[in-house]
Amino acid sequence: MPESLSAPIQYTKGIGPKRARAFEEAGIKSVEDALYFFPRRYQDRRVLTRVAGVAPGETVSVAVTIQACQARESFRRRGFRLLEVRASDETGSLTAVWFNQPYLRSYFKTGRRLLLFGKAELYKDRLQLTAPDFEILEEEDGALPGPGGILPVYALPRGLSQRLMRRVMERLLNASLPLLKETLPYDVRRRRALLNIAQSLRFIHFPETPDQQRQAYVRLAFEEFFLFQLPVLLRRHSRRRRRGIAFRIDTGALAGVQAALPFTLTGAQRRVFAEITRDMAAREPMQRLLQGDVGSGKTIVATLAALVAAANGCQTAFLVPTEILAQQHFELLKTFFSTDSHRPRVRLGLLTSSLTPKEKKKALGEVRRGRVDIVIGTHALIQQKVAFHKLGLVVIDEQHKFGVAQRGLLRQKGIDPDVIIMTATPIPRTLSLTLYGDLDVSVIDEMPPGRGAVTTHLFSSQARRGVYDRVRTQVAAGRQAYFVYPVIEENPRLELQSAKRMFRELGQGPFKGLRLGLVHGRLAKDAQQDVMRRFHKGQIDILVATTVLEVGIDVPNATAMVVDNADRFGLSQLHQMRGRVGRGPHGSCCYLIADPATDEGRRRLQAMAAYPDGFRIAEEDLKIRGPGEFFGERQHGLTELRLADPLKQMHLLKAAREDAVRLLRDDPFLESRIHQELKAALYRRFPEFEKFLEVG
Ligand code: ADP
Ligand code: MG
Repeated sequence: MPESLSAPIQYTKGIGPKRARAFEEAGIKSVEDALYFFPRRYQDRRVLTRVAGVAPGETVSVAVTIQACQARESFRRRGFRLLEVRASDETGSLTAVWFNQPYLRSYFKTGRRLLLFGKAELYKDRLQLTAPDFEILEEEDGALPGPGGILPVYALPRGLSQRLMRRVMERLLNASLPLLKETLPYDVRRRRALLNIAQSLRFIHFPETPDQQRQAYVRLAFEEFFLFQLPVLLRRHSRRRRRGIAFRIDTGALAGVQAALPFTLTGAQRRVFAEITRDMAAREPMQRLLQGDVGSGKTIVATLAALVAAANGCQTAFLVPTEILAQQHFELLKTFFSTDSHRPRVRLGLLTSSLTPKEKKKALGEVRRGRVDIVIGTHALIQQKVAFHKLGLVVIDEQHKFGVAQRGLLRQKGIDPDVIIMTATPIPRTLSLTLYGDLDVSVIDEMPPGRGAVTTHLFSSQARRGVYDRVRTQVAAGRQAYFVYPVIEENPRLELQSAKRMFRELGQGPFKGLRLGLVHGRLAKDAQQDVMRRFHKGQIDILVATTVLEVGIDVPNATAMVVDNADRFGLSQLHQMRGRVGRGPHGSCCYLIADPATDEGRRRLQAMAAYPDGFRIAEEDLKIRGPGEFFGERQHGLTELRLADPLKQMHLLKAAREDAVRLLRDDPFLESRIHQELKAALYRRFPEFEKFLEVG
């Protein structure tokens, strides 16, 4: 019997060094790890079906005797090795098949009894189970396997069988349940009618009824959300305790600046800017998430905030994800602050990895001495040792491209500057609460006026000529076009169009006589910038590219976006690319060329055609891919959520958040005796959370 939950699993009966290694590979080191290694699913074997009673389409358990076993090539799928088992009970016979697992053959000896669990189907008029779960039944199991019950199915550590895994789990649970300490405070459990921890862990592994499993699941998912929300809230509290800069807001001067802009701010931009200045005027450091669809005009809002900082003698670091974008923002900001005497004199700096060592040294020196007010740069800006004279504001554009770690890193450079994080990936509200629960959120939900509409059209690859004809017409009318491809170069294993080859083919074929440019990530930085500059100036008609175009590029005269192999891109990515057109007064078109292989692929593209709005697209995308994929791994500790799914259990998430808020209101530093188990659990999961408890 283990002495504590943190004891290595190796000292459990039945687990020697070899199995312990297999467990460790699966992420299980301690007894507690094992208890929290939840089943992937369950087999309901409370009812055992006779073969004669098996209906196609049903998921069943059957106990059968092996009659024959043969390995052969699959007829249906070339290159697949198939293992085919004929088996029967006294009422009938069926076939079970497994793919590409030749080693199974040694288990399937004629005469052995087998318990199969899976979905039955009719194949060539015979009952078949395809790749069912199975168990070899031993003599001791008797004619029928013992009391069926609901059995857990685990993602197995190497070399273990379900049978063994279940035995180990059963043993561990029996031995360690008395050691378990309750982490959730009693009043939280009572309020939400949650099972206690011992019951929950028992029922999540070995439920006797589906309802027990469900209750265990609710309790454990709630716990995950709760433990996930607490550090988020603590981080927010700790930020509020730090001291930032209380900027002076000169309303008169700002009105002057706005009057001198080449356009009038939209209502949404004005509202959001007011939210930002309110934060900037306050003493606590701002951390604001600025959401707005592509083209909604986030940059100017952030730039106005930078002016406030500059008027207070503080510098702004403006971070963008790509070189091209850094260059473009630099140019755009210059236009905001050109010579007009009403406009404030603001000194702009550009800091990217394409600077020569000499240029870089000069730029860094200017930043250090405070000769520059706004520094625009890529990751290079934060990866290297950049010393600011007085950093007052940090703007992070397209935040989904930056990791949380980088966010933190940047903050340490100044003395708690204000931070604006901008994203064009709209996030459903409840989810943004979880992910960015420590941030305040502003939304620009209105597009600048005078934008032409963008319509989206789907084409099969056979019909691509039609797309080319339409693009030709637009170019003849003086417009420009983008062609985006999933890869730079041909790859024999992937049948994908490549930017390089299509650049050649388009130039020699359908667009002969037009001016084409090529840009992709493997091109030297200055070559990239050169192409972009020429496209901006209208010296290139058709820009062939990879997804380097995904973010931010702003050329109002471009009215056609063609994405080839469109099914290869994520929905949010497609929406970002579509955002490259419709930025001027002309109507624009987005053409998606694809032959989607699956229904889901088709639905995704149809969603693109149906919804112009990034919010809808993001929701669809989230539904299809799940939050982990959607936001990129590692980003948010979402991987800590094993059971809980923030999309499917928003109500639980909200409840957990409410309770976490309530708890911290009563005990902001988790000092109370009744919260010590909770604190220990937090510490085991997020060792870094303790720093949020520090004062000052
Ligand atoms: P995003 O939100 O995608 O970052 P940008 O800030 O790049 O959008 O703005 C897109 C374009 O719209 C830029 O050329 C910008 O100058 C212009 N713009 C921004 N606000 C307005 C406005 N209120 N009226 C007209 N044009 C605007
Ligand atoms: Mg932008």
